[in-house]
Parts: sequence; C-alpha cells; structure tokens
Amino acid sequence: MHPSDTDTLPCPLCEGRRPRCHLCDGSGTVTPALERIYSAERLARVLAPEWRGADDRQRPGVATFSLATYYRRRRFLRGKVVAARGRPVHDGAFGIVELLDKDGRPLITLHGLAWGYVGEGPAGLANVLADALPHFFPTTDDARQFVLSLPQNNLWRVP
Ligand SMILES: [Zn+2]
Repeated sequence: MHPSDTDTLPCPLCEGRRPRCHLCDGSGTVTPALERIYSAERLARVLAPEWRGADDRQRPGVATFSLATYYRRRRFLRGKVVAARGRPVHDGAFGIVELLDKDGRPLITLHGLAWGYVGEGPAGLANVLADALPHFFPTTDDARQFVLSLPQNNLWRVP
C-alpha cells in the first residue's frame, strides 16, 4: 500500500488474487465505503435469503438492505451517477435518497438511509455517496462529514 493511499482496504472478495474480480476490478483493493457496501450485501443474504430483488422497500428503514440494493445495481449505475439528492419522510427517521443521471433523472431510489446524526442510516448514506460520487467525496470520511452536516429535516442535493 502506498503511504498516500490510506483510503483503501484489501478486496474482501478476491484478496487481490483475481484479475477479473468485479468488486475491485483486479486492483486487489477497495475503499472502506465499498467494503461496507459489500459486507451489507453479504449480511442481507444471511438475514433474508429469500430477498433476491433490488427493492429495499420490502425491508423498510434498514440501512443494510439499502446498501445491498445499491450493491445489486452497482454495475449498472457505474459511470451514470452524476448527482444525488435526499428528502426527509415526515413519519420516520429515514429519508428517500435518489442517485441521478446527467439529465436529473433518478437511477435508483433508496429508502433506508438518513442524515444529520450519527447512526446506521447516515453511515450507510455516506458509504453510498462516497462510492457513487468519488469526485465529490474523495474519501469515505469526506462523505461522512458531509452527511453529518446535513440538517435532518431538509432537502439536500449534491452538487
Ligand atoms: Zn477483488
């Protein structure tokens, strides 16, 4: 690992042994955000083996399933996501988060993420933002600080 490369972890899928690994693209390393997204996918498979789709509304308010939903559509989303936005849901702690294409159209909608406090939902949102919008959030910590700074009851958008 290079000294400047502190935002990477060994690839949990191939540990650097597979040049065609779809998680790390053969680099052998992943960001902490991607490592947590992949862990959530594995956990979702254990918690709900019957849940095969990519719709987190079937598991409302659980960040793990939102991350698994993102993971299951990640290959489709790569290179297409240019922005993100969120809006609070008034009867719950969680909000609705959309990742948008260049024309502002939602590519995926997630229902188990949150912002504005320290917890599972905001940590999940930070991981999704860091993975989907690396130009805006060069490290997972940048995304975490952004998510923490968002007012809980307001709309937000990046950029
Ligand atoms: Zn790998």
